Amino acid sequence: AQDGAFPRAEVVVDLDAVRHNVGLLADRANRSGARTMVVVKADGYGHGAVQVARAALEAGASWIGVCHLDEALALRRAGVTAPVLSWLHVPDEDFAPAVAADVDLSVSSLRALDAVLAGARAVGRPARLHLKIDTGLCRNGCPPDHWPELVAAAAAAQAAGEAEVVAVWSHLAAADEPNHPSVDAQAERFAAAYDVARAAGLTPIRHISNSAALLTRPDLHFDLVRPGVAAYGLNPVPWAGDFGLRPAMTFRARVAFVKRVPAGEAVSYGRTWVTPKDTTLALVPTGYADGVPRALSGRMEVWLAGRRRPVVGRVCMDQIVVDCGDDPVAEGEEVVLFGPGDRGEPTAQEWADTLGTIHYEIVTGMVRPRVVRTT
Ligand code: PLP
Repeated sequence: AQDGAFPRAEVVVDLDAVRHNVGLLADRANRSGARTMVVVKADGYGHGAVQVARAALEAGASWIGVCHLDEALALRRAGVTAPVLSWLHVPDEDFAPAVAADVDLSVSSLRALDAVLAGARAVGRPARLHLKIDTGLCRNGCPPDHWPELVAAAAAAQAAGEAEVVAVWSHLAAADEPNHPSVDAQAERFAAAYDVARAAGLTPIRHISNSAALLTRPDLHFDLVRPGVAAYGLNPVPWAGDFGLRPAMTFRARVAFVKRVPAGEAVSYGRTWVTPKDTTLALVPTGYADGVPRALSGRMEVWLAGRRRPVVGRVCMDQIVVDCGDDPVAEGEEVVLFGPGDRGEPTAQEWADTLGTIHYEIVTGMVRPRVVRTT
């Protein structure tokens, strides 16, 4: 969007920032001899999966990671030809279109392996498998006691020409916490799982590092790293440094209406805030329906007319009210709700801190219609 000509409210994504971040991350990975898979699930953490994937591939990534099959297939339809891994599926999923589209598939159980192989047979080409071992997150991933049989079945499928075992992989539970002992414990289980695969005659690559491990644990980079949040410029390990990341998302709106009100007027639903003196109020036409959490009522500021100003009274479905004191503020002016922070505006990190959550939830919360609605 052009300055001065943008709509009521919008999320602006700075793809140069994405390229900058991915360049930094891919450099770090390269130094360990690892390649980089940028994770663009949940519509690129709210930044637009296809545009982020393209920017990431331009900037040094060579793989793309997503959660769901439909996310992977949407990338293929948009012309993304790089390797794409999809890792979370339901039992009755049809894998044939994914195998046909050359999407790499994560498998955590014999049941899932059978379903993927059925897809491979249906399209007459081998499925590309990433065998997932649960090393201590207890979410997806094969429990260690079932791992040898999963590996054996995958090796048999490879020998039969129905599959190629591309990788052994896992996911870390607490790499974002300083020196959390679970990281080493997971790394040990990961090593043992890899040995089982090698002993079965397989020669897969290995990957386990999210952004936090990419930034703090070069010993865990292995062949491939999987940064998500850091590619968007959000630091999951501020305790370890700032790493030169640039937040890519700005959420901004325009002043819809300005008015002068006398002292003693109550503002917004519930009349929770009363003007302490005569003041100028700016109405900003965005609210919780657009992703401004109502829980920020009375606890947020925006950047407007050259400085931070408080949002007063409750956040409504479509509107917030900003107290501008005696400053002149023009209708149509830009209001930054959060951004990279370099002008002094609030950041997604600041919203997260106020709300007691993580910046991941703030930026992904800006993609409104993610869950399909059926009637
Ligand atoms: N790998 C997997 C399996 C994930 O689910 C995620 C996101 O949660 C990532 C990598 C990227 O993690 P992060 O955004 O913390 O870098």
